Amino acid sequence: MLPVHDIVRRPGEMREHRLTIRLSEQWGEGLVSVVQGEELDLDVRLESVHEGILVTGEADSTYRGECGRCLNPIDAPVEVEFQELFAYPGEEANDFEVQDDHVDLETLVRDAVVLSLPFQPVCQPDCPGLDPETGERLTESAGKEQVAPVDPRWAALQQITDQGNAAE
Ligand SMILES: [Zn+2]
Repeated sequence: MLPVHDIVRRPGEMREHRLTIRLSEQWGEGLVSVVQGEELDLDVRLESVHEGILVTGEADSTYRGECGRCLNPIDAPVEVEFQELFAYPGEEANDFEVQDDHVDLETLVRDAVVLSLPFQPVCQPDCPGLDPETGERLTESAGKEQVAPVDPRWAALQQITDQGNAAE
């Protein structure tokens, strides 16, 4: 909640707020979410316009969860922008209204963050996932094979072996 009493009904006035909040509850219900207690940085500009208060801002935080392919734990930054007009209460009902002398940004920011969370998160763009037969992570075995330098005379043979592995 941000105070707006000093700019209410004063079109042209503007205030900027920069603050860090801690989430009192988890945001998001999918494979990844912004967990309870996570810090969220907010950069908000409040502009007084004729109809109400125009809220523009940016939120930065971190989401956590597990890779949708290999189930490794992951965390990654989430950054969203938002803008909404908080109207003065009138005859028409609005989703977002100036309440007394403040605006409540929680629903606005939470919806923007939750909608930006990946539906199918991966630990890395080319995560190969789990071996369908053994259930082991393919990432680790694939990494080890590349480590030893190969004698050029054996390179052709290595290539054949690699193709054989790929075909399995
Ligand atoms: Zn993965």
